[in-house]
Amino acid sequence: MRILVTGGAGFIGSHLCRRLLADGHEVLSADNYFTGSRKNIHDLLANPNFEALRHDITFPLHVEVDQIYNFACPASPVHYQYDPVQTTKTSVHGAINMLGLAKRTGARILQASTSEVYGDPEIHPQTEDYWGRVNPIGPRSCYDEGKRCAETLFFDYYRQHKLDIKVVRIFNTYGPGMQLHDGRVISNFIVQALHGEDITLYGDGSQTRSFCYVSDLVDGVVRMMQSGPGFTGPVNLGNPSEYTIAQLAETIIRLCGSRSKLAFKPLPEDDPRQRQPDIGLARKNLEWWPSIPLEDGLRETIAYFRRLLDTPPNTAKGANR
Ligand code: NAD
Ligand code: UDP
Ligand code: UDP
Repeated sequence: MRILVTGGAGFIGSHLCRRLLADGHEVLSADNYFTGSRKNIHDLLANPNFEALRHDITFPLHVEVDQIYNFACPASPVHYQYDPVQTTKTSVHGAINMLGLAKRTGARILQASTSEVYGDPEIHPQTEDYWGRVNPIGPRSCYDEGKRCAETLFFDYYRQHKLDIKVVRIFNTYGPGMQLHDGRVISNFIVQALHGEDITLYGDGSQTRSFCYVSDLVDGVVRMMQSGPGFTGPVNLGNPSEYTIAQLAETIIRLCGSRSKLAFKPLPEDDPRQRQPDIGLARKNLEWWPSIPLEDGLRETIAYFRRLLDTPPNTAKGANR
């Protein structure tokens, strides 16, 4: 198949392109390189089945494809708050353009939505039928409401134009391929631990997140794209193992064999207190569940950042191998 991946040079998008090429497809990446990088896809450029296009999805795109994975959008709070108007445009205008493209070509289209549509949730763990608790006017709203509006557009194109849609709600995902200055918690903590710098813990560290390793996530995304036409989602994809951010900091310090200390910083506005996916629907409809435990995934991610930073491996007991 000819497959378009928007955000194909990003963290998840580049892993997805690699997986789709390995499955024998032709892959076209469309990315404006705001948070992505050509380095993420340099190993793919020589592959005749791969093409990388510099393109901003807030503008129309006319290509012929059979499937579209819509992953373009900055995902780290630091980056999506840098130009919040552009973030909303990417989610909303970008979705309209990609849905228009799917409508013209008849392509099946999958939207990378997010656990952020649940906001700071009152339901724990979060199930897909929960409507969420989102601040419409706060600093995270450009991302949260943009992604909610994109979901609305997907379901309106489905009802109104009979498009073949799939919607996944992705929970915090990590792994090799994240940028050094991505700004999200796992990359921040690993880079700080490897440099022996203070670990910046926002708030008291009691807020929770559930972290999914990127290969597990990509497998779930591809299963969703291949699922029967009657199943639109939204479906949660994430690892249900939940940790406080303080536990995460301690684990990363130990695995890096680092002497870093914790430095407590103010909690950002509207930072969700807790987050854990209920993945019952993905288990039932996609026969999917994650298989990589946090410490295994962290070891791979630490090894990747060591290579990037060129720091020697630590030999301390329990440290990254
Ligand atoms: P990322 O920032 O690494 O990747 C996003 C990619 O989109 C980058 O390559 C960026 O340059 C590109 N991009 C941004 N705006 C664009 C535009 N207007 N036109 C074209 N390209 C544009 O983030 P990621 O973690 O790989 O996330 C990928 C997708 O998955 C995003 O849609 C994000 O919302 C979603 N998601 C990710 C997570 C996670 O934990 N990683 C969780 C929930 C949802
Ligand atoms: N679009 C696109 N590529 C295509 C077809 C459409 O980018 O191959 C864009 C088009 O520019 C339009 C949007 O998708 O702004 C929505 O298209 P749709 O057909 O739904 O609406 P309309 O063209 O009637 O506004
Ligand atoms: N966080 C932190 N230190 C950092 C970066 C993030 O304590 O250097 C916290 C942040 O406040 C949040 C959690 O870690 O509670 C996850 O943050 P991230 O930006 O990775 O993702 P999101 O808040 O979107 O889930």
